[in-house]
Amino acid sequence: MSKRISIIIPVYNEADNLQHLYEEIRKATSDLRKKYRFEMIFVNDGSTDNTAKILSAWAAKNKKVKYLEFSRNFGKEMATTAGIHHSRGDAAIMMDADMQHPPNLIGTLIKKWEKGDEMVIGVRKTGNHETITRKFFSFVFYRILKKIGDTEIIASSTDYRLIDKKVIREFIKFTERNRMTRGLLDWMGFKRGIVYFKAGVRRNGNGRYSYIKLLQLAVSGFTSLSYFPLKFAGYLGIIITLVSGTLGLFIFAEKYLLKDPLNYAFSGPAILAVINLFLIGIVLSCLGLITLYIGSIHQEVVNRPMYVVRKKKNF
Ligand code: UDP
Ligand code: MG
Repeated sequence: MSKRISIIIPVYNEADNLQHLYEEIRKATSDLRKKYRFEMIFVNDGSTDNTAKILSAWAAKNKKVKYLEFSRNFGKEMATTAGIHHSRGDAAIMMDADMQHPPNLIGTLIKKWEKGDEMVIGVRKTGNHETITRKFFSFVFYRILKKIGDTEIIASSTDYRLIDKKVIREFIKFTERNRMTRGLLDWMGFKRGIVYFKAGVRRNGNGRYSYIKLLQLAVSGFTSLSYFPLKFAGYLGIIITLVSGTLGLFIFAEKYLLKDPLNYAFSGPAILAVINLFLIGIVLSCLGLITLYIGSIHQEVVNRPMYVVRKKKNF
């Protein structure tokens, strides 16, 4: 039997793009279809336009078009997750519906997969049509996450990627809700390959993500891949305690033990301020201590698989 490849496409109000997308994917896979069987999984994320009508009509005509409809808008991360859950392929390719992920890259993704990569990630080349602000924020996001996260994230990596059946099998075990799908995939740590592409302009309409939604996604990314934000109060507390403590000791020694040999004449309010700062530092440090426990509660509640298995033999 030839290998099966699922193409997963989350769609939210993309009625104007579907026909074009479908044709482009057919074109891009025409030679590959001799060797592989393709199925398309469209996940309708609560669209309010004609998307539902078009997709159900396609699904009725063509068994290789799978159609999943959400009851309301749950967001792209959930739509992709659902697509992965329903994929039956030997590999799955995730792709946006707005032609920003060029379908003619499918062949390259598959080639790299056949050479042994368990996950092939599309990475955006610079010089795309994103706005300056978005570029800036995505740059900052990846920089910070790289510094504070425990997961190795490839900068400018996108959701356009191919994942092997092995990855899918393990991915299904993730039950956390606030997720950034590509972040979780990176966390899993399979063998990753990279394919560069130039993201085009969105076809028809504006991005379906508002800045608020993007910010929420970034927060999900941070909080699910790093406990640093949680520990931040503690670090701040420790620094403040150390600095104000040293300062306090210095003032105490200079003014009261040595009777002000340096002629600083520290005023009462200044001393009060230092004491106050010291206490604030202690409070923050204690908060930090509490967050250690909250962090482990979070870890337990999220219930992420403890390990990820690549291969089993003789079981
Ligand atoms: N999308 C979705 N649910 C949403 C928002 C977007 O399924 O709530 C889909 C959308 O239809 C598209 C993909 O996710 O196929 C990427 O969306 P968009 O182009 O708006 O994101 P951007 O390219 O700006 O990151
Ligand atoms: Mg887009």
